[in-house]
Order: sequence, then C-alpha cells, then structure tokens
Amino acid sequence: MEFNLSGQFFGEQSDEDELQSEVQKVIIIGGGPAGLAAALYAARASLEPLVFTGQDLGGQAASTSTIENYPGFPDGVGGSEVSELFHKQAERFGAQFLFDMVTAVDLSQRPFKVVTDSGEFQAESLILATGASPNHLGVPGEDRLMNNGVSYCATCDGWFFQDKRVVVVGGGDSALEEGILLTHYARKVDVIHRRDDLRAGAILQDRANSNEKINFVFSSVLEEIIGEDKVESVRLRDKKTGEKSIHATDGVFIFIGHTPNTQLYTGQVEMDDKGYVVVDKLMQTSVPGVFAAGEAADPHFRQVATSVGMGAGAAIQATRFLESQ
Ligand code: NAP
Repeated sequence: MEFNLSGQFFGEQSDEDELQSEVQKVIIIGGGPAGLAAALYAARASLEPLVFTGQDLGGQAASTSTIENYPGFPDGVGGSEVSELFHKQAERFGAQFLFDMVTAVDLSQRPFKVVTDSGEFQAESLILATGASPNHLGVPGEDRLMNNGVSYCATCDGWFFQDKRVVVVGGGDSALEEGILLTHYARKVDVIHRRDDLRAGAILQDRANSNEKINFVFSSVLEEIIGEDKVESVRLRDKKTGEKSIHATDGVFIFIGHTPNTQLYTGQVEMDDKGYVVVDKLMQTSVPGVFAAGEAADPHFRQVATSVGMGAGAAIQATRFLESQ
C-alpha cells in the first residue's frame, strides 16, 4: 500500500472494498498526535488498526511551526515534521491509513459502524481522536472575509502578510505564540485582548513584551471586520470607556480557544457541557470498547505530549478490551 504526505491511501479500490467487508479489530478516528500514537501502539499490538485521518495528517499540531515542548527534540521540531514521523512509525508496524472523512458512527452495538465518504466500515473497538477546532468570534465580516485576511493559523497564512499590519485577537498562549511568529512577516502586530491581564504563560509574555513589533490593546473587543474583498480595518470597542474606533489592518488572526470535534458522537457517548468526551483514567468512554484520546477528550492540557500519552493509553486499553472478549 502507498500513501501520500497527507496520509492518503493510494491502494486499489479493491483493497478498500476488502477493508469494508471485514470487521476491523480497531478503528481510530483522527490523524493528530493522539490518533497517530494510538495507531502506533495498536499496530505494535498486531491489531492492524485502520486510521481515518480526515483531510490532513497531524491535526492542529501540523500547523504549528515549531513545537518546543515535545520531549526528545531539544532544538524544537516542526509540527508537520513530527506528524510525518509519527505516521511513518505507525505505518512501519502495520497501521493502515485512509484519507476519508468520517460522516457518522453507530456506537449502539458491536461491531461498531463507521460511515465515511467512501463507504461503511465496522470494528470491534474504536478510538475517538478527532481533536478540536479553533473558535470563531462570530462578528460581522468574519465568515465573509475568511481566507481574505481573516485567519486562524499564523503558520499557514503568516507568509502572506510580509511587511503588512495585522491584529491578533486573544490573550492566551496561542495568541502570543502565533503573534510572535507573525512578527517574522508583518511589520506591526497589534494584540487585542478583552481584559487587562494576559492568560498566557510568563515565558511567552516576556517574549511578546520584548518584541518591538508587538503592541497590546487591552480591555478591548473586536466588534466588526471591515472590507469589501479583503480585510481593510476592524472596529474596536474600549470596554472601560465604551468608545468605538476604527483600526486599519491588513489581517485578523483569531486565537480565542477551541471547540472539541465531537459532534459525530452526540447522544452516543457521555460528554461534558462543553462537548468534550468524558473518559475515565483508562481512556474508556461510557460505551465499553469505545475509547477517546487527545483534545476531543481533554479540556485541560491540550499539548502534543499529553495527547500522545492519551492515544498510547487508549490503544493499550483497546488491546486489553479485545483480549478480554
Ligand atoms: P485559551 O488559553 O483558552 O485562551 C483563549 C484566549 O482567548 C483568552 O485570553 C480569552 O480571554 C480569549 N477569548 C476567548 N473567547 C473570546 C472572545 N469571544 N472574544 C475575545 N477573546 C476571547 O486558548 P489557547 O491560547 O488556544 O490555549 C489553549 C491551551 O493550549 C492552553 O492550555 C494553553 O496553555 C495551551 N497552549 C500551549 C502552548 C505552549 O505551551 N507553547 C501554545 C499554545 C497553546 P480571557 O483570558 O479573558 O478568558
């Protein structure tokens, strides 16, 4: 079998038909760090896991320019580079990757059903590792100007803003990390934060404060993104004075948290009030044989290292579950 860089399966149609006709031991939904680590552990347990990666391999990690806090890489490692290494390692032990989007699951009985763009698959156990997606502000102009100046990924889009002026919305680690990255391209980065205190950790705050290109606009909310075919300005409101102002900019980068990609499982596994899949300390969901890992089940840590650990744990538990049956 052959795969492209996105993990797309290049096998003959008959190979895919064969996968559909057999009941798999384990299907992993998601190709981010949690899904790829689960694939490695399940493959090494000879479960020949079938992994649905969605559109891109690597999840959110793949769009991070440099990951500095994943152990084993003292000089940091590129997000897409480490994702590709995870992929290769899992593939080496027999994990099978499909580029398909999963459109529905049926967890009501075993074997569980997984419906994708290309057909219907069955498995004795499942690992849900569908991650999380960036939140939108929900202001006028945001959706209309998406990809025309509005972005949720500095690594992906920063290059287009060479010597331009951009705003970043948010006060967490992501806002500052991505804001600092944007200073490699843009001539000025204004970070708009709704409070006076940043949520980001001390190291990133120090780095941002000492970066001459970064300017903080505190206690302000972005109310509208303005422009015909591309972003031209934003309307801000000062929360203390109520004063509104128009601020010229070429781009708007939004980093205001994430929502778990768990809509597929609504009503079928227990979730918390924010939609995160509830797991016990053994990665077991409320449905025996269905495990979850990574940001789909983790509102607390949300790191590549922790997602990898959860994925490995979920695969170990899936192996034990199958052995006990
Ligand atoms: P986050 O920590 O939840 O921060 C979101 C930021 O957006 C907060 O400052 C929040 O404001 C603001 N915000 C939320 N909703 C908003 C809205 N509707 N309008 C305006 N502002 C809004 O999210 P994150 O920065 O993506 O980080 C998520 C997790 O990943 C965290 O645990 C973080 O530590 C981790 N992370 C770590 C690294 C690293 O270690 N290098 C890098 C990136 C992320 P308030 O502060 O007022 O709530």
